[in-house]
Amino acid sequence: MLRQYELVDLVKSYDPDADEDALNRAYVYAMKKHGAQLRTSGDPYYSHPVEVAGILTQFKLDSTSIIAGLLHDTVEDTDATIEEIRELFGPQVAQLVDGLTKLAMIELKSKDTKQAENFRKLLLAMSEDIRVLLIKLADRLHNMRTLHFCAPEKRARIARETLDIYAPLAERIGMQEIKTELEEIAFKELHKEAYESITARLNFLREQGSNLVPAIIKQLEKDMAEGGVKAMVSGREKSPYSIWRKMQKKNASFEQLSDIMAFRIIVDDVASCYQALGIVHSKYHMVPRRFKDYISTPKPNGYKSIHTGVIGPENTRIEIQIRTQEMHEVNEKGVAAHWAYKQGEKVVGKNFRWIQELLEILEEASNPEEFLENTKLEMYNDQVFCFTPKGDLIGLPVNSTPVDFAYAVHSKVGNTCVGAKINGEIKPLRTVLQNGDQVEVLTSKAQHPSPEWDRFVVTGKAKAAIRRYVRANKREQFAALGEQMLERTFKSENLDFNDKGLISVLPNFEAESVEDIYAKVGEGLITAWDVMKAVYPSYKQSKLGKVVKSFKARGFGKSDKKNKSEPLKIKGLIPGMAVHFAGCCHPLPGDRIVGIVTTGKGVAVHSIDCKALEKYASEPERWLDISWGDGATEGTHIGRLRVILANEPGALGDLSNLIARNEGNIANLNITNRTLSYFELIVDIEVRDLKHLTDIIAALKASKVVSYAARSNQ
Ligand code: MN
Repeated sequence: MLRQYELVDLVKSYDPDADEDALNRAYVYAMKKHGAQLRTSGDPYYSHPVEVAGILTQFKLDSTSIIAGLLHDTVEDTDATIEEIRELFGPQVAQLVDGLTKLAMIELKSKDTKQAENFRKLLLAMSEDIRVLLIKLADRLHNMRTLHFCAPEKRARIARETLDIYAPLAERIGMQEIKTELEEIAFKELHKEAYESITARLNFLREQGSNLVPAIIKQLEKDMAEGGVKAMVSGREKSPYSIWRKMQKKNASFEQLSDIMAFRIIVDDVASCYQALGIVHSKYHMVPRRFKDYISTPKPNGYKSIHTGVIGPENTRIEIQIRTQEMHEVNEKGVAAHWAYKQGEKVVGKNFRWIQELLEILEEASNPEEFLENTKLEMYNDQVFCFTPKGDLIGLPVNSTPVDFAYAVHSKVGNTCVGAKINGEIKPLRTVLQNGDQVEVLTSKAQHPSPEWDRFVVTGKAKAAIRRYVRANKREQFAALGEQMLERTFKSENLDFNDKGLISVLPNFEAESVEDIYAKVGEGLITAWDVMKAVYPSYKQSKLGKVVKSFKARGFGKSDKKNKSEPLKIKGLIPGMAVHFAGCCHPLPGDRIVGIVTTGKGVAVHSIDCKALEKYASEPERWLDISWGDGATEGTHIGRLRVILANEPGALGDLSNLIARNEGNIANLNITNRTLSYFELIVDIEVRDLKHLTDIIAALKASKVVSYAARSNQ
């Protein structure tokens, strides 16, 4: 275990200005807090954070990171608190330790390997500061190095998790060294036999004198020197894990693998890379399809190198990687290398596409300390990752709610969700989900998607499902209403109402089915009257004609029992005069009325407070003093209402039921405005008189789906 002064010396070797006092205090604090706790190895627990800090010094990290490394398990495993750490070591250290504590609490329980990718993203999203991730990886590396002390069952789980999550994570941020070491240890744990047989083969080959590495290095060095390229050549047998991976990928045995050796040629600059490549390719036969130029096209994690496969010296198939020293540092140490370089005022190029923005900060930052402080991980900050109760991870866009989560799980779950438990607590469906939340969706078979949800969901899947449902549901309502209205209209004219008639006029209304016509009438796109006229084109008699006819009949004093349902009794009219109700005010028995003699259309009956009357103010000769007759309430009249309804499933049905229950008939219905939350409609209702209409208005106002109802004064 590193001693206190050794650790401080290590930090000071690359950072002379490091806060020595704080490092010493952190070392002592970790030791005290972990106290007599022991690791499974039998070592005192505090040896773990000290070793983690030691690993971090290899990446030449700032003293804030080293201190956080020393303290990384104190909040999780001892009585230390974030507040105390903030007080003793400042807000920066506290923030890092807090981040690490949060990471330690989340755990992927799912065995589904596809989930690993989401979990890696979650870790990246939660490690807002890149140092959190670096410390986490150092933590995992030390745990892997001491894995053999753990119980066997635990070992396999940790090794699997390392292979699935942490090694790829290290690769993602370009830390090849850590990645390779993690993989090797995990491989040895998980596939002991394969590991041992590959190692045995490698040893055997070496003993047989067929370890050609030194000879090949020598030859390549000679080649470079002759070609005038200054280069450092190194070589090694590939690691057991990478050999095993290759065997798996190619479904080959160890003997069939030809290139188990890899060589590196490190040169001064990019131009020399291509020069070195030229020398190699002119001297040795290329192996087809093994050439890759990651200098002109770096890997997403910033990896840069040229790879090629050749039949090299000693007639052996080998892999050669060519790169500059700078590229090499970045390839091995990843993001940490940027910081190391910055220390030497030697800023490396923009190697990491995904931290492009961070590098801009790097260039603006005046000191390395500031670079790390500002290096916020911007990865996946447009996503959140939440757990199902079973431990599966679901990735969603930022600002997603439990409804989005429910639809992401399954449309059925979304359609029937009534509530959600987030981390065990019941929360509203509009709650915005956070990274790492565990979400349990509560469902009920009686539930349906609500148009209200449309206001807060963010995923396309949820939006589409809600809209699809609401649209289908509304159409159903419109169709039922339209059918009623049509039936009534046809019957009132004593005309036969059947599908056959409607089918014959489908093209007239651009309808594809009888239901289409119903829905269109229900929605007010066409009137029942239009449909009736289309089905019976020869039926000339209009409602107005009937009204006049019945009026005439009455005017002549003849009682017509057949027309009893249409008695229009208005006093003060000249017998025989054509009369109609003005469409503007829809006067009802009970309203004070006035007659206006129109040009060519007889007398129009208006209510006395109708705005349209202003037009006739200067023509008193047109005004007729009329009033309702005794029989006026025996028939029906059209009253026009303006209604505002909540835009929710069933609202239209409720409206029509309410009107029907109050003995009114909907003669026409027209939606004049529609928003997400409400419909505005004009409803024409057949009523006896003003009182009847007022009663209906009162009933409507009492309903919870109606937010406004009044006579339309248009
Ligand atoms: Mn730890």
